[in-house]
Amino acid sequence: MEKVLNYIGGELLPASSGAWLDKPEPATGKNYALVPDSDEPDVQRAVEAASRAFPAWAATPATDRARLLRRIAEAIRSRMDAFARAESIDTGKPLSVASTVDIPRSILNFEFFADAVTQFSSEAHQTDNVALNYTLRTPLGVVGCISPWNLPLYLLTWKIAPALAIGNCVVAKPSEVTPMTAYLLSQVCREAGLPPGVLNLVHGLGPKVGAAMSRHPDISAISFTGSTRTGAEIARVAAPAFKKLSLEMGGKNPNVIFADCDFDEALATTMRSSFANQGQICLCGPRIFVQRPLYERFKEALVTRTRALKVGDPLEPGTDQGALVSQQHFEKVLGYIDLAKQEGGRVLTGGKRASVPGRCRDGWFVEPTLVEGLDSACRTNQEEIFGPVASLIPFDQEEEVLAWANSTKYGLAASVWTRDLQRAHRFASRLHSGIVWVNTWMLRDLRTPFGGVKDSGVGREGGWDALRFFTEPKNVCIKL
Ligand code: NAD
Repeated sequence: MEKVLNYIGGELLPASSGAWLDKPEPATGKNYALVPDSDEPDVQRAVEAASRAFPAWAATPATDRARLLRRIAEAIRSRMDAFARAESIDTGKPLSVASTVDIPRSILNFEFFADAVTQFSSEAHQTDNVALNYTLRTPLGVVGCISPWNLPLYLLTWKIAPALAIGNCVVAKPSEVTPMTAYLLSQVCREAGLPPGVLNLVHGLGPKVGAAMSRHPDISAISFTGSTRTGAEIARVAAPAFKKLSLEMGGKNPNVIFADCDFDEALATTMRSSFANQGQICLCGPRIFVQRPLYERFKEALVTRTRALKVGDPLEPGTDQGALVSQQHFEKVLGYIDLAKQEGGRVLTGGKRASVPGRCRDGWFVEPTLVEGLDSACRTNQEEIFGPVASLIPFDQEEEVLAWANSTKYGLAASVWTRDLQRAHRFASRLHSGIVWVNTWMLRDLRTPFGGVKDSGVGREGGWDALRFFTEPKNVCIKL
């Protein structure tokens, strides 16, 4: 059985306790790898290695750090097939998704921040003719990055690339549910010549490894992506130590479709925003509000297309929908489908475990599911399901749908479909959401601020926001 290893101080190591966690393949339900069940001593070792590496790394010219990040990007690119296959097997997502989205984007994360750091600058303020202020920005030191399972390498590199680029050393904890590509990354970093201790990857459970990171006095910031519940726990532990925190958390995003939209575009994109990665993307839009005149037509077309999605072996090229990531998550999603029925929802298509024959017969597959007949306030439409389940809700008026869109405790992303330019601007500005897409979904420019409001997040990632987060500003005031 394959063994994932920690990457600490440049070495590949098991957990110091010698304990291992089983890692199943979601498409088969069978264990296929072992993951170090690390704990506080491993985190301690990683922090010590990072602290030792920090002075030299921070003093390395930005162009040299950038060159190393590009070398890592290039090494991943040269092994695209191995990375994509590993990501697909580990998560259950279709290989076609891993090879066109997850791994290319991970490469881009390194390349983007390698470029960004060479362009980064800080502010200067001239105070009349009295003084000149300028802001120094220095790396924080050792920072912690904690990432989830849905886009494993993509979200891990989205954090570690800016942290490293700007001169920090990193202790990172990939999700224990999907550790494999982080392990491949550690091999790549060794080959690329990243100095030992600059990046450390400690595998294991959140309440052990993640909690030890959150309370470690020498980790000065935590960048976290995951559930709102875990984000709250990290904040509870880390805030009294005055750590800088960036929290990217859950969502229940609205997808608002006005009757004057481009029907074909809205339909095709809603298919993606409902079911991409089996609905396990924080940006997915599982609340589909459709204006009444379009409702029946849109619903019928969406149901027809959803029925045509092929659920199957993630490694087969024709598969649209793979497995859910774990048995626990699979049961949670099926539980929400039951809840939707109990709340009076009608299942339009899907609604149960999908049977996939052959090697995947015991895998955690769920039929892509559409429900209707539920009001905006019910639990199905308020709580994050994070699976291939979307709910259709008709609406009449702009004010009404705005209130519904804003009615959850979350506020990560929203999509609005209309050809009315004034309405698009008006509606976008009134949505409680960190990100609004108009007539599109998940179109990303890595320079833009990324993050949520309310229970979806604190802080922003991306572009300068990420580089600012991972630095400490110091104002210097010179009297003229
Ligand atoms: P999770 O909160 O269970 O785990 C995320 C990470 O936190 C994992 O590495 C986990 O081991 C770790 N962790 C768990 N308990 C911890 C603790 N006590 N202290 C420190 N770390 C701990 O989330 P998940 O199930 O892996 O991911 C799905 C969630 O992530 C969904 O809610 C989804 O919306 C969210 N998500 C948000 C974004 C975003 O950008 N806002 C992106 C992707 C996923």
